[in-house]
Amino acid sequence: MQVEHPCPQCGGPVTLEESDRFLECGFCRVRLYIFSKGSLRYFLPPKSRPVDESLFVPYWRFRGMVFSIGASDIQHKVVDASFRARDVHSLPPSLGFRAQALKMKFASPEIKTAFLAPQYALKSDLSKIDAVADFLGKPTGGVFHRAYLGETLSLIYAPVYIKNNTLFDGVLDKALGAAGPEIETALSDREADRGWGLRFASALCPNCGWDLSGGRESLVLFCGHCETAWQAQGADFKKVALGVLPSEGGGEVYLPFWRASVEIKGLQLESYADLVKAANLPKAIRPEWHEKPLLFWSPAFKSHPKIYLRLCSQLTTLQPEAEPEAAMPKATICPVTVDAQEAFESIKVTLAETLTSKKTLLPALDALPVKAKAATLALIPFHLRGSELIQNEFKLSFQKRSVHGLEF
Ligand SMILES: [Zn+2]
Ligand SMILES: [Zn+2]
Repeated sequence: MQVEHPCPQCGGPVTLEESDRFLECGFCRVRLYIFSKGSLRYFLPPKSRPVDESLFVPYWRFRGMVFSIGASDIQHKVVDASFRARDVHSLPPSLGFRAQALKMKFASPEIKTAFLAPQYALKSDLSKIDAVADFLGKPTGGVFHRAYLGETLSLIYAPVYIKNNTLFDGVLDKALGAAGPEIETALSDREADRGWGLRFASALCPNCGWDLSGGRESLVLFCGHCETAWQAQGADFKKVALGVLPSEGGGEVYLPFWRASVEIKGLQLESYADLVKAANLPKAIRPEWHEKPLLFWSPAFKSHPKIYLRLCSQLTTLQPEAEPEAAMPKATICPVTVDAQEAFESIKVTLAETLTSKKTLLPALDALPVKAKAATLALIPFHLRGSELIQNEFKLSFQKRSVHGLEF
C-alpha cells in the first residue's frame, strides 16, 4: 500500500510505501526519518466529500506472523490483513481492496476532522475482532496462546458520512445502510486526545551529529562514526545497546538479533543453568551458568515464520556471547526491520518450543506474566555460500532470499 505526502522541505509530492521509515524527496533530495508516537496512522482520502466533513473509522492493518500454540504443535501463518477497530456493523469488517487502489495520507494530529477512537488494541484484543476467527481458523484441540508478531502494524482511517439518514462509504460514495441511533452512537466516540504525533527529521546521530545509516525500512539506524545504534522512540532517537559477535575469517554479512531480558513470574528461568534444566538440553551445567542471566534471542529482521521460530529457539538455547564494546563491522549489516517490542512478544512462543514441561506450561502460557526488562541488539556474522547464509559456529543455515531487505 502506498502513501502520498508533501515533502516537508519543498512541498513536492512524495510517494512512499507503508513500511518505509524514510521519506525521500525526488525534487529536493532531502531524506527524512519518520518519527511516530505509537503505530503510524493513515487515512484514505474521501472521494467527493471534504476531509473536514467526513468521519473517519479506524481499521488496524497487520502484516506479520501469527503463531498458534496448540497441544501438539505450533502452527504459523503469514498474515496480511486489516480489521475494523470499532464495532460499526454496517461497515465492512476489513478494508478489502479499497486501500490498495488508493494512495493513503498520513493522519497527522493537526488535521481538522473527526477521527473515531479505536475500540480494540490490536495485540491484546485481536481475538475479540469478529473477522479474525474466520481468518485464522479454529484448530481442533484448541489454542493455548497466539502470538502476533508484526512487521507492519498501522491504523488506517476510512471515511464515512451520513446523508438523508443513510450511512455512506466515503471512499466509494456508496450507501451502506440506514443511519439509526445505534450507528449514531457508534460514530460519536471521537478521539479527543490526539497524542499520537508525527514528525519528519534528518537522521543525525544524537551523540556526534554524523548521518545515521539504514535501509528504507530500518527501525534501528547505525552511526558509522561513533559506532552506536539508535532506535526511534516517540519523537527522538534512543540509544540501543549493541553487541557484536566475533567472526572467524570475517563474515560477509551481519544479521541483527534482539536479546530480551525479562522477568517471568511462576517459572524458575533466570539463568542459563535454569534453561538448560527446563529445556533438558544435552549439556553439563557449568558453575558460571548459574550466574549468567538468561536472554531470549529473536531475529531483528523479517523472515519466514519457520526460520524465525528456529532461530529464536536455537540461539536462546545456545546463548552466544557478544562483545559489547566491539567495533562496528565493516561488512554489510542487514537492516533491523523488527521492533524490539516483538522480541518480548516472541518469548512465549520460544518457551513453548524449547521447554519440556509442555503439559503444565502450555495451559498456563496465555496468562503467564512476562515482564519486559530490556532489549539489546547483537550482530552475528554469516558467510554467503551460493544462495545460502551460513553460520558455522552455531550451525545455522538458510536461504539468503528468506531474509527480507538484505541487499548486497
Ligand atoms: Zn523536497
Ligand atoms: Zn555518532
